Amino acid sequence: MDRKNINRRTAQEAIRFLDVHMLDATPANYTFAYLYLTGANGWLRRAVDDMTDGGVRLGQKEVDALMEAAPGETGHGAAAVMGGLDKHQTELRHNILSFADLTTTALTNTGEFGRELADSARHASGNADLTQLIGAMIERTTDMERRLAETRRETERLRQDLDAARDDATRDALTNLPNRRAIDRQLKTFAEDGTPMAIAFCDIDHFKSINDRFGHAVGDRVLKAVAETLAEAMAPHVVGRFGGEEFLVVLPGVDGHTAFELVERARAALGARAMKVRDTDEMIGQVTFSAGISVCKADPATALREADTRLYEAKHAGRNRTVYKEAA
Ligand code: GH3
Ligand code: MG
Ligand code: MG
Repeated sequence: MDRKNINRRTAQEAIRFLDVHMLDATPANYTFAYLYLTGANGWLRRAVDDMTDGGVRLGQKEVDALMEAAPGETGHGAAAVMGGLDKHQTELRHNILSFADLTTTALTNTGEFGRELADSARHASGNADLTQLIGAMIERTTDMERRLAETRRETERLRQDLDAARDDATRDALTNLPNRRAIDRQLKTFAEDGTPMAIAFCDIDHFKSINDRFGHAVGDRVLKAVAETLAEAMAPHVVGRFGGEEFLVVLPGVDGHTAFELVERARAALGARAMKVRDTDEMIGQVTFSAGISVCKADPATALREADTRLYEAKHAGRNRTVYKEAA
């Protein structure tokens, strides 16, 4: 098995470990499980083995105490362990991303398989046994599809938790932009003050294929570069990282048409930037985004939904464009 698969297996084992010990799936507990399972901290591994010998379950208190007491690689206590974790965390985060991509692909394949089966069932309607058999298979694939969708949601949550753990309260660790929490808070404040504003959802086009072709580390750098370009082009308006490859721009006191012009300018700025893989000079090709704009009058949640609908329209219309529609 290659290294990537071993890592992925460890991530799954870590989740199982938390289940067995009935520990909450917090980032700290996950880190603990990961450290234990990989044996990255020998002291921790021995201490846990001693405590759990004979099938004893670990409690949250024991976990906290162990993390506190565990010596780091440099022998300066828990702080050093956490400091030394950065590489582990990055690797772990990338494993989670790969895992999420894997489930997405599986989900697509399962859906297709289910549709093919349904077609066969229609054609095989002369044969009762066969129809029944296919019916049972369809039921099973539908069930699998549902479980895969659940897994995908779980992994996304895990990734967000992990990012949040590295984060200070308001900044996204990768791009250094305000994070979702900060943006939500800002939207709420403006709305409460009665400040009219435009918001723009920007989502990178076909970002998954950048990860697929060049790996997640390059994907991360592209994310940073897009964040930088957007923040620069939209200044002084605030750009936040809303989720994976999705950014939200908040433009207080700006109407929808002006917001549209500004976002189009940012799109042109990104389009003018040729991106290359740093180590190999390989061309990544044009990185583009699609955007949806809405105007927020009172309720940020409604405005977010509307911007998201416009973003979807922009994607559907062929990507690399901005959509804004005045309210009817
Ligand atoms: P679309 O044009 O429809 O938006 O296609 P897409 O490929 O951009 O969208 P999709 O939602 O299919 O894929 C988003 C990808 O973003 C999948 C996920 O692996 C990747 N991603 C999310 N967060 C990160 C991150 O922090 N780093 C990296 N490298 N990739 C990320
Ligand atoms: Mg997206
Ligand atoms: Mg995208």
